[in-house]
Amino acid sequence: MKQAITFSTGYSTVKTLNLNIPNICIHCHKEVGFILKSTTDYNYQTDTSVAVTFLCPSCEKYSVYEYNGINASQQIARLVDYSYTKQISTHLPKNIEKVSADFVKIYNQSQTAEAYNLMDICGVAYRKAAEFLIKDYAIRKFPEDEETIKKDALGQIISNKLNAFPKIQNLAKATAWLGNDETHYVRKHTDKDLADLKAFLLAAATFIAADYDADEALNFINK
Ligand SMILES: [Zn+2]
Repeated sequence: MKQAITFSTGYSTVKTLNLNIPNICIHCHKEVGFILKSTTDYNYQTDTSVAVTFLCPSCEKYSVYEYNGINASQQIARLVDYSYTKQISTHLPKNIEKVSADFVKIYNQSQTAEAYNLMDICGVAYRKAAEFLIKDYAIRKFPEDEETIKKDALGQIISNKLNAFPKIQNLAKATAWLGNDETHYVRKHTDKDLADLKAFLLAAATFIAADYDADEALNFINK
């Protein structure tokens, strides 16, 4: 929706710009007719952008929009695309989703929690991601034990089902220990932190993805 908005120039004159006004509130995500509350000055000699404050009539919260690329004679300007949500990119080993799609989903959620600085819960979330990764991997290796693997404690799975894969077993154990620290009142391993937990978890995921590829290669040459 276009709206003509008048800006003080800081002198006795004003400038009017026809601006594109967003129609979705960033807070309540409702389609609203914003109420104009204030504007910055627009001094064409010094300012390359202007800003406008709107009030949402629905949730009664304020939002600010910036406009640049001002063409004062044509009375136009370009709305700057502010992003109020964080862009989170994850880099997980290729094919890991074929071993555990839930791991990928929970890992992404954990990263989102971490990106929003929710440090008291993201460790717990990484711990949950680790449990899905390790259990889904164990189920892949022992499909006949699927029901018991789902129910058993993670520590038991690591001790009983990963003996043939010592590097994955060690990484899984280290991940589980640090992950448990994230859920408990008292931390046992004070010399390690969330970065170590993530490093061990990612290393375990890398080995597991490589093991998946190795199994695929074996299937291929046995054909
Ligand atoms: Zn709103």
